[in-house]
Amino acid sequence: MEQQCPRCRLINPPEAVRCDCGWDFLAGNGAAARFSRSKSIADQAKASWVCPLVAWLSQFMIAMNMTGMRGLGLFLLAAALVQLVLLVVGLVLGIKIVTMDHTLVRPTDRKSAWAGVIFSGGTMALILAMFIAAMVG
Ligand SMILES: [Zn+2]
Repeated sequence: MEQQCPRCRLINPPEAVRCDCGWDFLAGNGAAARFSRSKSIADQAKASWVCPLVAWLSQFMIAMNMTGMRGLGLFLLAAALVQLVLLVVGLVLGIKIVTMDHTLVRPTDRKSAWAGVIFSGGTMALILAMFIAAMVG
């Protein structure tokens, strides 16, 4: 009998052990897979707010150490790029989890994913607002 992947809904041949998306059909029914899956969701939920937090902390460190230094243009540009990537990762991970089927995500993980979405998205909105303010002013 053909089996449908519970994760990506792809129809797999009966003999398939693993779906293209990585879902393990053998372990998929077992508690072990559920545990590792919920653990990976928990990790991603945590990363969704840790990423913007790291971006903020690095910005504070730079701001505190920046006074009096010269020739930092390239370093600041690189730091800004890394921070942007962290914010995007936080936002994407958070959105991915909050839009996931609620039976797959524990309430605590959903809450921390929401925190990540608000934190990352809010920071990006702030940067955009500052950028626009700088352009106008
Ligand atoms: Zn799949």
